[in-house]
Amino acid sequence: MNTFLIEAGWVNLAYVAASVMFVLGLKGMAHPRTAVRGNLISAWGMLLAVVVTLLAEGLSYTWIIVGALIGALAGAVAALRVKMTQMPEMVALFNGFGGLASVLVAGTAFMITREPDVRMTVATGLSGLVGAVTFTGSLVAWGKLAGVVPGRQLGFRGMRAFNALLGLGVLGCVAWLTADPSSTAAYWIIVPASFVLGVTLTIPIGGADMPVVIALLNSYSGVAAAATGFVLMNNVLIIAGSLVGASGIILSQIMCKAMNRSLSHVLFGSLGPGADGPSADQVYGGKVKAAGPEEVAMLFDTARRVLIVPGYGLAVSQAQHVVRDLSNLLEARGITVEFGIHPVAGRMPGHMNVLLAEADIPYDKLKEMDEVNSEISQVDVCLVIGANDVVNPSARTDPQSPIAGMPIIDADRAQTVVVVKRSLSPGFAGIPNPLFAADNCLLMFGDGKKALVELVAAIKEG
Ligand code: NDP
Repeated sequence: MNTFLIEAGWVNLAYVAASVMFVLGLKGMAHPRTAVRGNLISAWGMLLAVVVTLLAEGLSYTWIIVGALIGALAGAVAALRVKMTQMPEMVALFNGFGGLASVLVAGTAFMITREPDVRMTVATGLSGLVGAVTFTGSLVAWGKLAGVVPGRQLGFRGMRAFNALLGLGVLGCVAWLTADPSSTAAYWIIVPASFVLGVTLTIPIGGADMPVVIALLNSYSGVAAAATGFVLMNNVLIIAGSLVGASGIILSQIMCKAMNRSLSHVLFGSLGPGADGPSADQVYGGKVKAAGPEEVAMLFDTARRVLIVPGYGLAVSQAQHVVRDLSNLLEARGITVEFGIHPVAGRMPGHMNVLLAEADIPYDKLKEMDEVNSEISQVDVCLVIGANDVVNPSARTDPQSPIAGMPIIDADRAQTVVVVKRSLSPGFAGIPNPLFAADNCLLMFGDGKKALVELVAAIKEG
């Protein structure tokens, strides 16, 4: 066991330095050009905080080393094996385990403290509540993203009242714990009841709102960590937790704006709108026009302006490099090519930007939704690759649709639309897309990458 290798004053000074590095890191991450550097600065800050903490306290290292080895191994295997499209699932799991860690650390610290004061009991109760909700809520979010749990809104009548009562009951137990710090029973009620609450709060939220939920759960994991920081009176944990909590809530708000949702609508939206919406047969019946690569290639003979709208399917088929080749080929023929980026295209914020950057597509070619929509009627060919919900005009036209009001890229308003996808299967929101049945729309069925390789070959031959 070591005994305070570093004095408390120096420890706090190192914590301040680490906190400054977290803030600078976050600032760097606000722009794509400085994001990698920002990430590194934050990582160094975290290393500093961890090393100083290990040297400062009177710790026995055996279990710490065992835990660190198991954690590092699991993290390394996951980081190497997880595909880019599965990153949001991994983030959901990270958030969940962060919450569980807070429950375990705060609970243990509370149990081994002889005479806990009010600060400790309140913080332990809140850490148990928020951490446990984060854990099971994140597991449900992971299940919805991985397709293990159905993406549609699930639940039972009266679920909101049930959640409100359960939430109040748990808060009552936090008050009980505060009033009587010896009542460990209260903690044993708070944690399992909050596990249930995490499930019942998340399961009624539909798949299309999952991006916001993930950002929100990220925020919760930060709040739980900050509460645990108050249990341990560890300054850097309080600051890091608060930063995660605040940035997660800001991201949730930005995502809500992008989807034209209010946070309360996402969290407490009514059950099952869209269940009575039109069926795929009603929307598509006899109206869908399929086209092969040669036919689509001919469209580019006369086109002067092309807009490419990438979506989740582009990421799945890893078609980013072929898309770059297609874009270069068209530009070499004097066609203006731009990319229309929807803020929630793909499965995580910034997914399309990262994917296209990987293929060295210049950043200034990526246009935001508002910018492309204002000029979309002048686009000769809008090539939608593996995108579905983000170009679904029902968001504009059908108030009953689960995505009603969500801003979309108005692909249907381009002169001609070509959609590349494998079938008429729905996107993440699970609803049919009237765009595919529109007069000006052609469907080029096939895997994104394969279809684009064929299209490039057909343009070169043409
Ligand atoms: P969608 O999920 O709406 O649609 C993707 C389409 O890609 C599907 O219709 C599928 O059709 C097609 N596809 C799948 N694999 C391939 C392939 N190999 N080749 C070609 N096409 C393929 O994606 P969008 O990007 O349009 O919308 C994103 C959705 O995900 C939104 O509902 C958003 O709310 C949600 N979401 C977004 C997150 C974010 O932060 N960005 C996080 C979580 C969810 P088919 O099977 O016929 O090929």
